[in-house]
Amino acid sequence: MNIDLNNTPLQNSSVDLKMPLLIAGPCSAESYEQMIDTARQLQKFGRVDCFRSGIWKPRTRPGAFEGMGEKGLEWLKAVKQETGLPIACEVANPQHVELALKYGVDVLWIGARTTVNPFYVQDIADCLSGTDVSIMVKNPVNPDLQLWIGALERFSRAGITKLAAIHRGFTTSEHNIFRNDPMWNIPIELRSQFPNLPIICDPSHIAGNRELISMVSQKAIDLDMYGLMIEVHNSPCCAMSDAQQQLTPNDYAKMIESLRFSDIIPKEEISKNTLDKYRREIDILDDILIDHIAKRMKIAKEIGNYKKDNNIKILQMNRWEEMLQNRVEIGEGLGVSSNFIRHFLEIIHQESIDIQTSIINNEK
Ligand code: PEP
Ligand code: MN
Repeated sequence: MNIDLNNTPLQNSSVDLKMPLLIAGPCSAESYEQMIDTARQLQKFGRVDCFRSGIWKPRTRPGAFEGMGEKGLEWLKAVKQETGLPIACEVANPQHVELALKYGVDVLWIGARTTVNPFYVQDIADCLSGTDVSIMVKNPVNPDLQLWIGALERFSRAGITKLAAIHRGFTTSEHNIFRNDPMWNIPIELRSQFPNLPIICDPSHIAGNRELISMVSQKAIDLDMYGLMIEVHNSPCCAMSDAQQQLTPNDYAKMIESLRFSDIIPKEEISKNTLDKYRREIDILDDILIDHIAKRMKIAKEIGNYKKDNNIKILQMNRWEEMLQNRVEIGEGLGVSSNFIRHFLEIIHQESIDIQTSIINNEK
């Protein structure tokens, strides 16, 4: 039984494996003109390896636009015939798979709302058994790495070897500038467990609005993700789904041109140079550390406002002592010296106190 997620190149005879893999196209197929015009413009700019489009749309509320179904597949096929680009769409059940394969779809992806349910995933994996299609599995909506890995394993066990994961961010209760919290540590953990599994970032669904797509894409590139999947529409403002986050082909091309790819260390060099590899890991971990410290300070600020509104003094000694003891124990359990944890927490705590003091003194 093949469950080796480390041996799952997303290769397809027609997909160029240059880094990064660029998948672009509309959130949904809406009309022949919209599809062909978007595809022609994308092809003219030349920064696309695969054309995507939603055919069946999982919508939060019934009555919203639920996709064009089989008609959309005819347009997707027309895009492939005219441009020669490989085509991709989401599938959520065996009927979708059957139709997508009938229209020659090269790459199928499993949406976030499908990955959450192992029954759905298994049904799809069973009907794919024996096919040679490429499968990309989006992370589940909830931040559960095991569920994501489990879905990938179900396809691997069904004999699918061209597998990739798509990181599209997670629903969390935390307020965020993004539509979906990227929680970068989760795809990084997936990569550290399965170093050869390609992970593609979907900045459109993470960002939720056009303005943030470039920032998220750059971050994904800096973290050495395998590729990007970006929603592109010939007339985003009139899009029938995800209008705020789609880019025009022109803006997409400009955005891709503006990304810095140069400091990526090629994979072969990383494995040649152990020190570089370790440094890269440290860079990523520091990045996560700083991100968490920033989130912590944001909460400290909110607590500062609360304390001010409710006349509570800044420092509660017993809370601080309890906190310190608990963190020291956690650190010791992980082999980090208690002195270091104490020192580290004191600096962080002092910064929180400074922030809250200036809030109480009306300085912020
Ligand atoms: C999509 O890619 O259009 C989509 C519906 O994405 P997700 O499953 O990530 O919400
Ligand atoms: Mn979408």
